[in-house]
Amino acid sequence: MTAPAVTRSALAWSAFLTHRPRLFRPGHIRERAELNREYDRHRGSARERGYTSAWDKAAKAHLQRHPLCVYCQLVDRLTPATCVDHLYPQRQFAETFWRSEWWCSSCKECHDGFKQTIERKGRAALDALAQRLGLPLLG
Ligand SMILES: [Zn+2]
Repeated sequence: MTAPAVTRSALAWSAFLTHRPRLFRPGHIRERAELNREYDRHRGSARERGYTSAWDKAAKAHLQRHPLCVYCQLVDRLTPATCVDHLYPQRQFAETFWRSEWWCSSCKECHDGFKQTIERKGRAALDALAQRLGLPLLG
């Protein structure tokens, strides 16, 4: 028994099906990694913004004590939290970085979606959220 003949056209067809053209990126559009580096230069790296190993340790301990996303709990969803959010975003309210009364266990979806929306709405929306969560307001 012989192996089926692989024809020249079958090979060409297979190459056609598996070939992926290189992504076209105009010269003025920069890569995501480059944009992130530039953003970090502007705002400071995570370490420079206070996310030190001490923060990692404190955040981990907070997540162990408060394992569910507090924002999901507002709508009766029980979701494991994966990060600790600063209710008052530390880029505007740096003085609250270590104030654990405003640390909120959060899932990534809430942190990247719902909470960003609240932050864009400004201080009054942050205060309203603090109230809904039963947290003190920033004086
Ligand atoms: Zn959530």
